[in-house]
Amino acid sequence: MNAIKNVNAIEILDSRGNPTIEAEIVLDSGHSARGAVPSGASTGIREAVELRDCDKSRYLGKGVQLAVANVNKKIAPVITGMNAYDQSEIDHVLIELDGTKNKENLGANATLAVSMAVARAAANASNLPVYDYLATSDKRVLPIPLFNILNGGAHANNNIDIQEFMVVPLGMANFSEALRCAVEVYHALKSILDMSGFSTAVGDEGGFAPNLDSNAQTLELVCEAVEKAGYEPGTQVGIALDVASSELFRDDAYHLPSENLILSFDEMIDYLEQLCQQFPIISIEDGMSETDWEGWKSLTKRLGNKVQLVGDDVFVTNPDILKSGIASMVGNAVLVKLNQIGSVTETLDAVRIAQDANYGVVISHRSGETEDTFIADFAVATGAGQLKAGAPCRSDRTSKFNQLLRIQAKLNDQAHFSQSLS
Ligand code: PGA
Ligand code: ZN
Repeated sequence: MNAIKNVNAIEILDSRGNPTIEAEIVLDSGHSARGAVPSGASTGIREAVELRDCDKSRYLGKGVQLAVANVNKKIAPVITGMNAYDQSEIDHVLIELDGTKNKENLGANATLAVSMAVARAAANASNLPVYDYLATSDKRVLPIPLFNILNGGAHANNNIDIQEFMVVPLGMANFSEALRCAVEVYHALKSILDMSGFSTAVGDEGGFAPNLDSNAQTLELVCEAVEKAGYEPGTQVGIALDVASSELFRDDAYHLPSENLILSFDEMIDYLEQLCQQFPIISIEDGMSETDWEGWKSLTKRLGNKVQLVGDDVFVTNPDILKSGIASMVGNAVLVKLNQIGSVTETLDAVRIAQDANYGVVISHRSGETEDTFIADFAVATGAGQLKAGAPCRSDRTSKFNQLLRIQAKLNDQAHFSQSLS
């Protein structure tokens, strides 16, 4: 038993300069820890509610003083005195106190800040790193990183339709070698863009955000960068996309303005299939919209045995939605974002459900991040095997990679690392 003595939240800033919430938990033993919550831009419609003040006189309405007050005035009195080692009990108390399906009363930002801080404080008190404290098996697996080196869509003000172009180091000996490979590709891409007269300014997740002619031209540049860095596209470096196609879907069609295309779901699948034939694409996230389950089923039938198909907006880390997606054969992998559901326990449930169904699991940051590195530990704790945390650029992104380097150094030869996605 180690009782919660004090709970306090404050408003801090995320990497886009918007307010977000950080909670601190102090235990009877004197141990303490914080948890800071990230924020998305291309959010799924069924995500748990991120409570914002909507008071236009502060931070353009984006303040989180209501969520902060919910922690300090409503959550704190209820969980003070509870046993910090009882993560699931505390998370269920938060869920009940909120009383809604999507955490609209307290805000999933309020509940998650507390939930993460509790896990960390309890880990500190147990003298364990978070990746050990939350571990769901004996094996410690460092994740293969999916590095976002080129940003488009809602994460940049350029004209590229696809939101994320990621490189995935394959067959590398360990996490640090995979990181080195991606960093070298990132720098090679920068010099190619620079030499060709394109902008090397970066988007929200640290990837470059130039204006280019088409999604195919973008993929060509990525392959060129892989080669320039001395790696072979396909065998040593695969490509992963986050199409974020919920953002492209309206009036029952997929709109790709950079290529003047308006596509039905069948045509969109043809389009993605062609890209996979031309380029070494091994993973596609949100190839179909969150509202287009027929499209998703069809995409899975067509490409599911060749390519990893990751559901982000379509599952929103929600155990119930994920279960029905698995039953309907939608996708073959899930993107996991703690703030889509709002507690550590429910996120662990989603990961377990995916693993039990042999779905791939990609632990993910948000486009608006903080210096909090919880997802790095969480990826190792769950043995997810994959992580996407942006480009190897900007401290909000590199903090996650640096935490994984620390974990690798600590685990030493006990660290497992997969050399491919499955
Ligand atoms: P978001 O983007 O954090 O803006 O939602 C990340 C993603 O779509 O995977
Ligand atoms: Zn996504």
